[in-house]
Amino acid sequence: MPEILDGKRVRDEILNELKPRVAALTQRGRVPGLAVVLAGHNPASEIYVRNKVKACQDLGIHSEALTPPDSISTDELLQIVEQLNARHDIDGILVQLPLPPQVDTKRILLAVAPAKDVDGFHPCNVGNLVTGLPGPRACTPAGIIELLKRYRIPMAGKRAVVVGRSDIVGKPVDMLLLHEHATVTICHSRTPDLASVCRQAQILVAAIGRPAMLTAEFLTTGVTVIDVGTNRIDNRADVARIFRNSPEKLASFDKRGRVLVGDVDPLDVVERAGAYTPVPGGVGPLTVAMLMANTVASAERRAGVC
Ligand code: NDP
Repeated sequence: MPEILDGKRVRDEILNELKPRVAALTQRGRVPGLAVVLAGHNPASEIYVRNKVKACQDLGIHSEALTPPDSISTDELLQIVEQLNARHDIDGILVQLPLPPQVDTKRILLAVAPAKDVDGFHPCNVGNLVTGLPGPRACTPAGIIELLKRYRIPMAGKRAVVVGRSDIVGKPVDMLLLHEHATVTICHSRTPDLASVCRQAQILVAAIGRPAMLTAEFLTTGVTVIDVGTNRIDNRADVARIFRNSPEKLASFDKRGRVLVGDVDPLDVVERAGAYTPVPGGVGPLTVAMLMANTVASAERRAGVC
């Protein structure tokens, strides 16, 4: 049986390690502060923001959720960001995406002070990532590297394949794996013969957003699979097909009306992989943990602790 890379366990380790750092800052009168801006009404975003605020509360980080209405303009949102940039007690600013359609997302993300950009999306921090300079790294990719390190999965000299080239997952994880001395191939929707490229991977990262797309023919025996995909299946026939009529999954679907599945076939991965992240419970929990880590690191930098 392959090793299950347990994201919840690693999340708890990371959060526990942050506690004394938060306590030290608090003793100096510098409670770390995170502001989350949630514009408009989006049920999924509301759940993510609740989880982030709860993680802050558990750690003793001050958090604020700002919730401007759906109708907010780019200029109004820019004002909110500028006010947060100027606040001494706020170390991290996170603008929850997606923003309402009338808002210019790029302008908003550019307006966040790079020192407070705990998502690591600002071009300055992307530059820091590429050149290996210190600065906040995008949370999900940073969590993936942390997971691999803590499970002692070697990256140096290994062949890694990343499927997906988004700015928030694919590109930064590619760069982080490169910094760990992996030989990295990045694939996308125009990559020909994707299966044969994926079969060369010793580490395969799937960040596509297509349920169970990577089946056995994409997986070489013993591969380490990092499945970033978080796809909600709300059709019973699809659940039955993807999980080969698993009574447990069908019962879960009947209870909740939905089931989560990654980008990698959940049964094939068990057959082929040497180690893999389950969905849910793999990569997902690490994102919030790394957001907390970025917030604490930002508070330390701003307080002159490191
Ligand atoms: P995007 O939609 O921004 O990017 C998807 C990428 O997959 C694109 O580069 C696209 O290629 C590529 N792709 C799409 N279809 C194919 C295909 N048939 N063959 C090869 N490549 C393909 O998604 P994100 O990066 O934002 O997210 C990816 C997944 O990860 C989603 O399921 C998302 O929910 C999940 N996610 C999970 C997080 C977590 O914390 N667990 C955090 C962030 C995301 P192209 O560029 O050519 O269009």
